[in-house]
Amino acid sequence: MRKYEDTYRHKGLRKQLVDILKQKGISNESVLDAINAVPRHFFLDSAFDKAAYEDRALPIGEGQTISQPYTVAYQSQLLELKPYEKVLEIGTGSGYQAIVLAEIGAQVFTIERQKKLFDEHRKFILRGKYLNIKYFYGDGYEGLPTFAPFDKIIVTAAAPFIPPKLTAQLKTGGKMVIPVGEGGVQQMLRITKNADGSLSEEVFDNFSFVPMIEGRNN
Ligand code: SAH
Repeated sequence: MRKYEDTYRHKGLRKQLVDILKQKGISNESVLDAINAVPRHFFLDSAFDKAAYEDRALPIGEGQTISQPYTVAYQSQLLELKPYEKVLEIGTGSGYQAIVLAEIGAQVFTIERQKKLFDEHRKFILRGKYLNIKYFYGDGYEGLPTFAPFDKIIVTAAAPFIPPKLTAQLKTGGKMVIPVGEGGVQQMLRITKNADGSLSEEVFDNFSFVPMIEGRNN
């Protein structure tokens, strides 16, 4: 069961979470404002009502997780979003990251490979509030060629390599934030597409994501 009441207590817990994220080094004001605005407990079973505002990943069913708030903020900050930019997200999961990006002002296209998780977004209470998000059921390795090119791409599952179809769907000057690595730990990379079509790579901290798996799952 989920509960969709955003009380003063929830708002207070969210403010504390934002302070924790600041202490951990998140400084982008629009990212912090978005975390402060989005009721993370709406994405979770009411058993996690309070835990929703602790800085940790939590289960969302189908063996998947809602990313840790720090990770969501970290990736969002690396995207260096400008209002109205077109962003492709791989791994909708709970939809929390997509809504944080939409709250910042991006036009979001998000793909999920698990049918059951995808179907939940149809009836999700915040769906009507964020008309700047489009949800797709499919394989993130393919991207969304029909809607390409994108200003930014964010991958929220552990990629064993940089998927070539995704870099192909980046605009010139576009950036992709992606955790890459096999095994338990991935390096956060930011790939930039240069004017001559070549790619530059910046390396950031280590994280631990659930794997990015090929193909769709019914
Ligand atoms: N952004 C999510 C994090 C979810 S965890 C959130 O805010 O909650 C990663 C998600 O990626 C899982 O739901 C998993 O099913 C999905 N995923 C894994 N491989 C994928 C692929 N190839 N294409 C699309 N989604 C994928």
